[in-house]
Amino acid sequence: MLGYLNIPRIDVVVAESVDEAVKALAKDREREVLAAGTEVITSLTTGEKRARKFVDITRIEELKQLTVTDSMVDAGALVTHHQIASQLAKQIPAFDTFLQNYSSPAVSYRATLGGSLMLRRATEDLIPILLTLDADLVFETEDGEKRISLQGFLREEPSWRGVLKRVSFRLSRKCLFDKLWLGVSRFPLMAVAVDHGVGNVGVAVSHRDFERPGRVFSVERFLENNPLTSENIEKAGDMLSRAINPVDDVLASAWYRRKAAGVLLKRLLLRRAGDVM
Ligand SMILES: Cc1cc2nc3c(=O)[nH]c(=O)nc-3n(C[C@H](O)[C@H](O)[C@H](O)COP(=O)(O)OP(=O)(O)OC[C@H]3O[C@@H](n4cnc5c(N)ncnc54)[C@H](O)[C@@H]3O)c2cc1C
Repeated sequence: MLGYLNIPRIDVVVAESVDEAVKALAKDREREVLAAGTEVITSLTTGEKRARKFVDITRIEELKQLTVTDSMVDAGALVTHHQIASQLAKQIPAFDTFLQNYSSPAVSYRATLGGSLMLRRATEDLIPILLTLDADLVFETEDGEKRISLQGFLREEPSWRGVLKRVSFRLSRKCLFDKLWLGVSRFPLMAVAVDHGVGNVGVAVSHRDFERPGRVFSVERFLENNPLTSENIEKAGDMLSRAINPVDDVLASAWYRRKAAGVLLKRLLLRRAGDVM
């Protein structure tokens, strides 16, 4: 064990390129990617993680690039939470909310975008935001490059293993985010993101099915086809509450999470309606 941290002995290969990392994963099926380690190290100390072999990708420079144009963002998997949120806060309001209210400096200067997405779970605030922005993930695998939408990736884990290289998504000035959280952990009981543009609406929640985030297409269609009046905002919130199937656990009941999702969506849409008027 490694000192007080109670970390078991682990075997780490340090990759200098994406190719090297992919080869290390292909050579040994038990090896997993290690990025900033905020989740991996925590779950090793609690005993939750059984893996003992890793490939460290943090030296790979091409995974640290962040390119922003007028309409698109292309972010490397090693871009940190703080980097992405601070660089995009002025253009995408959802990132400003995340930066101001929900990202703790101790984690956000290390935690990576790639690590968040690969966890595929409700604790990751960036997931609902990126779902509404139609994010696509690009992986390098043994069989070459693979591209998959974030929504598709969350619905079903791909059969191939690889290194997530980058994430591309729309730059939208209309994308809003908020969450309800409990205690010191900042993990959401429910988080909601909405991108309400003209003829194009994205709505996503942290707990779409149980603890899996996802988009809510029925609410998106409703908002695309109806003006943003107070009556329709009320209806959209109620629709969202009924459309999702969140986990029922010690932190909150499924009923409470459904209600919270509806209220959060209504608040975000009222804010958006204020901009439109
Ligand atoms: C104390 C604490 C507070 C937190 N608070 C928040 C919060 O307020 N909001 C929030 O959204 N999140 C929060 N988180 C979660 C945090 O966002 C994630 O733990 C982090 O983003 C994971 O990134 P990482 O680089 O540390 O990943 P790691 O821990 O290194 O890896 C996580 C998983 O992703 C895989 N992986 C990582 N990168 C790649 C890649 N490029 N290709 C393939 N697989 C990869 C790893 O194999 C592993 O399974 C918190 C975490 C902690 C520990």
